Amino acid sequence: MAAADVKVNAEVRDLTRIERIGAHSHIRGLGLDDALEARAVSQGMVGQAKARKAAGVILQMIKEGKIAGRAMLLAGQPGTGKTAIAMGMAKALGEETPFAMMTGSEIFSLEMSKTEALTQAFRKAIGVRIKEETEIIEGEVVEVEIDRPEGGNAAKTGRLTLKTTEMETIYDLGQKMIESLTKEKVTAGDVITIDKASGRITRLGRSFSRSRDYDAMGPATKFVQCPEGELQKRKEVVHVVTLHEIDVINSRTQGFLALFSGDTGEIRSEVREQIDAKVAEWREEGKAEIVPGVLFIDEVHMLDIECFSFLNRALENDMAPILVTATNRGITRIRGTQYRSPHGVPIDLLDRLLIISTEPYSEKEIRLILDIRCEEEDVEMTEDAKELLTKIGHETSLRYSIQLITASHIVCQRRKGTEVDVEDISKVYSMFVDVKRSTQFLIEYQDQYMYNQAPEVLGEEEMETS
Ligand code: ATP
Repeated sequence: MAAADVKVNAEVRDLTRIERIGAHSHIRGLGLDDALEARAVSQGMVGQAKARKAAGVILQMIKEGKIAGRAMLLAGQPGTGKTAIAMGMAKALGEETPFAMMTGSEIFSLEMSKTEALTQAFRKAIGVRIKEETEIIEGEVVEVEIDRPEGGNAAKTGRLTLKTTEMETIYDLGQKMIESLTKEKVTAGDVITIDKASGRITRLGRSFSRSRDYDAMGPATKFVQCPEGELQKRKEVVHVVTLHEIDVINSRTQGFLALFSGDTGEIRSEVREQIDAKVAEWREEGKAEIVPGVLFIDEVHMLDIECFSFLNRALENDMAPILVTATNRGITRIRGTQYRSPHGVPIDLLDRLLIISTEPYSEKEIRLILDIRCEEEDVEMTEDAKELLTKIGHETSLRYSIQLITASHIVCQRRKGTEVDVEDISKVYSMFVDVKRSTQFLIEYQDQYMYNQAPEVLGEEEMETS
């Protein structure tokens, strides 16, 4: 691949950003006011005011470009909204800022090495804003000449003679130009524009000759005038693509279709080096800017010591994105070592992180979240049922109670009901056991299971998630 061939494609971007975020579909932002204070209920967010405000402050720093290469850690018990806050940050950043999401365990894939997985994740979170200048030439078509091959109708070559007020120019037609000429049905006498960068031709309408009676041209004929001096216009086109998208499009073995399947495999380091060099060149020429995005790594304790050292180094890079990590672990073993550390994260990395802790929800907050989820899932529920579900959420976990919404809705539909009632909630509560009841059950019937080991003999390591 010649360095000059580095290709970008803005259109692929939307497709790669489709994330599986069903559980957080109700989150539309962080729900903060202008002073970065958390509104009680806003943009799908409830409570957790301190953590939301802290995330908002970090967002502000990201927007002002102040903390490229910095990192934060959301630490708290399961179901306290760590992922929800990260999603809220992504929404608040808007479309232009790349947001990549992965779970710590995803790096243990057979298809690529751990460092390759992390490199890809990093590059998915680094955007390149590319500015392209293009020249638009406007003029009247004198003659269009397209050669059609024998027997076929696909035009291969051709010439276009265009007259601007200054001169007459002959263009050799490229495939793009032939396509747009055919599409726009351009003939002699039309007034067109040619976008020099893309080669696209747009038909503006028919020209007129001064001797003609304009009225006789009929209403369908567009009156076009090409005032002198406006014949050549400069236009700036800006698009943001991620470094990963540029990598994949330029990787010969993969091709851009891999972006749709997600099956990109390993990307050769020479490809990345060439792309980095090209991007650096564009930056120097003022054609491109780096947009550091956000990389969110959930369950960061699942990474091992090699990955942590990779992260430490990667954050030093001047193009590094903002790293947002989350964990529900306390003091635990760092994977790949015998050492224990807070959140299973080595102290040197921990030292770089701005730590935000999340707290368990009150019953009132659980109720509000359940209300929002019911609305999001289009589930009608009686007051009593909601009250019961809130109690269940408080006693067990928020996530368990959220899951019962869908299940109880199905049970309600089965009995041809329109509104989920207490009986539906009771039914699903006995149908699906929560962690506490499941553990109780295991303690009572441990002898009947394989490899059983009573919880009191399990090390705290294994029990920390519950
Ligand atoms: P884990 O440690 O198990 O990964 P978590 O802290 O990441 O848990 P979430 O997945 O964010 O927890 O929360 C569980 C569910 O509750 C999600 O559906 C989430 O969208 C919702 N939720 C959590 N906190 C809030 C909140 N403050 N406002 C609205 N919805 C919330």
